[in-house]
This record gives sequence, structure tokens and C-alpha cells, in this order.
Amino acid sequence: MTVRYGVATDIGRVREGNEDSYLVDAPLFVVADGMGGHVAGDVASATAVEVLDRQSSQLDPKDPSTLEHAIKEANVAIFQKARSDPSLRGMGTTCTLLIIDGSNAQFAHVGDSRAYLLRQGKLSQVTEDHTLVSRMVAEGRIDEQAARHHPQRSVITRALGVDTDVQVDLMTVQLREGDRVLLCSDGLTTMLENPEVSRILSSERDPQRAAQGLVDAANEAGGEDNITAIVVDLESGADEADAATSNAVAAPPRTRQDTNPAATTKRSTDRFRRAVVITSLALLVLGAIAYLSARFFLDRAWFVGVNASGYVAIFKGIPDKIAGLTLSSEEQTTTVSASDLCGSLKGNVEEGIKVDSLDAARETVTNIEGRAKACSPEPTPSPRNRHKKGR
Ligand code: CA
Repeated sequence: MTVRYGVATDIGRVREGNEDSYLVDAPLFVVADGMGGHVAGDVASATAVEVLDRQSSQLDPKDPSTLEHAIKEANVAIFQKARSDPSLRGMGTTCTLLIIDGSNAQFAHVGDSRAYLLRQGKLSQVTEDHTLVSRMVAEGRIDEQAARHHPQRSVITRALGVDTDVQVDLMTVQLREGDRVLLCSDGLTTMLENPEVSRILSSERDPQRAAQGLVDAANEAGGEDNITAIVVDLESGADEADAATSNAVAAPPRTRQDTNPAATTKRSTDRFRRAVVITSLALLVLGAIAYLSARFFLDRAWFVGVNASGYVAIFKGIPDKIAGLTLSSEEQTTTVSASDLCGSLKGNVEEGIKVDSLDAARETVTNIEGRAKACSPEPTPSPRNRHKKGR
């Protein structure tokens, strides 16, 4: 049998971010719905998907314990992240996983995302919600309809990342040709009742259009939460060994934020790369601003100091150094030797007398020349070496 699939996800009409993540790597399919605030929820669901993707080669549909093990690994990874970063504290995620091997569909599940089976027009829920209201329904305290509108309907009783261990539900379904499986986050099922989900799944043959149709309908119904739908069809044709390759040709984006169908890179790598690019750009801009500010300042700063040859000179910039770099250039040399100066004037000039303009610098030089004559009776010899040189 051949596996064909489609996937669609959407932020919905109310939320500020999409905390749902998914993995589509036929014959492996995962939906994870994060919680704990919009950054943390996103991290939780993305981490679940990343860990399961990394573990995908270890998953054996004939051995459900390998699925359980992988989900427990994801649980620990999220739990540790939440513990090490205060901004992620309290985060968690649901996780509904399907792996198909021939006609054998193996499900692993935690939380209130759902797996459904559509067989000959009849929709049945494969997974059981781990929510407060479903427990109340099971105990006969409220009915299904009351559960849909219960104020605590979104309280989940099991999630990945909230404790060191998690209990995983495992289900096996023997698929038949023509069966259609739906994996979805609760943003779909809180907006659409089962008959509507069934109607859309039954009326659209193409799995990609069916997934998109479900998401669109949930948005039309209000789109109060993030919506993710994966539709997987089991069709007659090539055996399952060809399934992955036959799908790869028309495969939709493999994980939620890949927009290029051919992309096999993962969200985390994309996100890291984006962060690096943004940081680099920010540093470049900051560097350019710092450089321009420095240039602006240095171009307008002048001082009178002593040059490398020992003569009083006019400099553009400031008489300081940063990390060994001089922040000035010599603009004009005088015939006054620093050795001709005396008293505090000598010290001041050696330190550099800061002024606002070239004119002010020239005035200062004239002043220094007059005072140099006063302290040295000998005529000043002409400098032999007057080339321009940085300080
Ligand atoms: Ca949700």
C-alpha cells in the first residue's frame, strides 16, 4: 500500500504566535501543541518534534516500546530545558505520533491533540484526550456537549515536559485500503465538531487540500487557537517501501516553518541561522553607528599638543588612545619646541590643550609662541624635521 499525505498549520485568528509544531517524514507523522506562554509553548512543541525526528531511525512500528521510549526522551529534554531557563518554566506540549508499517498503524499519544480514523465515511477517534473534562465525561459527571463548552475544557492532565516521567498511550490500528487518518491539534477540534470534520475529510480526495480545508474551516469558525492538521491516506499501489519516495516528490513542508517543499532542514537550524543573521546585522549596524559617531566627534575635536619630533603642533581628534590606537592626526606643525616651554604651560601642552576649532587651535598656538619666548631667552632653532605624522 502507498501512503499519501497533506499537512496544514495556521496561527488562527486570535493567538499571537503558533505554538503547534509538526513532523512529516513518511511513514512518521507527529503533531505537538505547546503550552506555557507563546515563546515557551513554541519551544516545548519544537523540542518534542526535534527529539522525535532525531530518534526516528530508532522507531520500530512492530515494537511500540520504541515509540514510548522516544516520547519519554522528548519529555526529559523539554523538562530539562524548562528547568534550566526561568523564562521557559512551566512549559509543556502534547504529542500525537503515528508511524505506519504496511497496514499496521502504530500510535503513541499524550495530551489533547487527536488522531482520528475515517473508514468508509465513518469518523472515529483513535486517541483519548488527557483532559479534565474528558475525565469528567468518563465519570459520567458531564456529557460530551457540556464538555465542549466547559470553562476548564483546555486543562490537560498529561503533557510532555512537566515532570521527569510521562505516561504514554499506545494504540495499534490495522489499516485498510482507502482509510484516512487525521492527526490534529485541539485548535481544530474545539472549532469544528466531528460531523463537520468528517464532512470535510469525506468531500476532499486530495490529502493536502483536505488538511488545508480543515484549517480554513476552523478559521472560519473563529480560529480561536493555533490549528494543525495532518491527513494521511492509505491507498493501493506500490508497497510501503516505495511510499516514502513516492511521497517525497510532492511532499508538503516537512516541519511547520519550512516554506520550501524540498527543504529537509529543521526548524531549530533555521531558527538558529536566522538568529545568527539577525545578531550579525545588529552588530554591524551598531558598529557602523559607533564608527560614524566616533568619526563625527573626532572630526570636530581639535587640540594643541606635542608631535613625535618634539614640536608643538595642531592635531585633529583627541589626545587619548584606545587599545593602543591614537585618536588624532597631526594637521599643522609649529616652530616651537616643547623643550622651550616652561612651567604649567609645558605640562598642559604635553597633555594636549583641547579646543573647538582650527581657528581656536591657531589662537592657542600664537599664545603659546608668545609665552615660549618669555620663558626661553635663546632664539628657537628651526625644526629640521617637519613631516606630517600621526601622534
Ligand atoms: Ca492548542
